Amino acid sequence: MDRVFNFAPGPSMLPLPVLEQVQRELLCYGNTGMSVMEMSHRSKMYLEIFNRTVADLKDVMGIPEGYKVMFLQGGATAMFAAVAMNLMDGGKADYVDSGNFAHNALVEAKKYGEVNVAGSSREDGYSYIPEYTLSPDAKYVHITTNNTIYGTRWDHIPQTNGVPLVADMSSNILSEVYDVSRFGVIYAGAQKNVAPAGVVILIVREDLLGHELPITPKVMSFQKMADADSMLNTPNCFGIYVAGLTFQWIKAQGGVAALEKVNIEKAKLLYDFLDESRLFRGTARAKDRSRMNVTFVTGDADKDALFVKEAAAQGLVNLKGHRIVGGMRASIYNAMPIEGVRRLVAFMKDFEVKNA
Ligand SMILES: *Cc1c(COP(=O)(O)O)cnc(C)c1O
Repeated sequence: MDRVFNFAPGPSMLPLPVLEQVQRELLCYGNTGMSVMEMSHRSKMYLEIFNRTVADLKDVMGIPEGYKVMFLQGGATAMFAAVAMNLMDGGKADYVDSGNFAHNALVEAKKYGEVNVAGSSREDGYSYIPEYTLSPDAKYVHITTNNTIYGTRWDHIPQTNGVPLVADMSSNILSEVYDVSRFGVIYAGAQKNVAPAGVVILIVREDLLGHELPITPKVMSFQKMADADSMLNTPNCFGIYVAGLTFQWIKAQGGVAALEKVNIEKAKLLYDFLDESRLFRGTARAKDRSRMNVTFVTGDADKDALFVKEAAAQGLVNLKGHRIVGGMRASIYNAMPIEGVRRLVAFMKDFEVKNA
């Protein structure tokens, strides 16, 4: 069976060289005589892997001094609660409600403090990034840099006038260059652009550690996890190792800036076609279009279903939109080669000729 072009939103494609290296090292890592899966997280060999992974992430993202990098568990969803428990500190927080995950984050945060919805596009099916008004006295501002389900992306970083900015970057971390110093906290589930599911990357500016509510479980305490170097308990050792291989792959591609160029080109191929198509149309507002998740419809649910089915038969799989929005979604993360996008556009043209 040949490998397919997998347009799944997450878990999603990993770079082939990463998978091949995992395969080569699966039974015996280096001269240890064992798999990374079988290693103690306290062993010298594993700590080398872990420390190199942290260093490589700092390198590829350009994370400045004064930030702690952690690899935790529970996914981005655990961070929805953790962010509020660690930063709310008896005050209130601004949330921009730009999508389903953004909404889930603010619903979770309400359990731990006062949430101000600073802007929302919920009533319009989250088809754009909303306007927003920030409170000067918020403990933090929360945004979702890329909205995975609706296919929208923030095209700017909000000016928060000193209020810490918290970003869920689950679906676009490492796909474009960000100035990390603009953020107080960045978190991202690994399964979209980095590694298998089960690892969440957490980057916290050090002055934001140590403000957690007393009820915070210790595995969710930013301070305690930072002090224990992510190893207050057993981390997802294998997932972190794969993340490390992806960071090395990113370096070999020329870094995030080089990938960003390719990602812009990949997304442009699809959007240019959608803008001309007589059958398909994009669903996100043009200005806010995601480079990672391209959402589109024909306007006819039967044709959508036929498209998804016929594409799969051509090795272009997992193009069905999220169950809450329907239509189609092509997730084209870092690991999706431009060839996969070209094949998809060619197939769409073909389908259009037959079905428009
Ligand atoms: C996938 C996703 C999540 C949920 O991540 P889990 O790891 O499943 O908890 C949250 N936010 C965004 C933006 C996502 O794309």
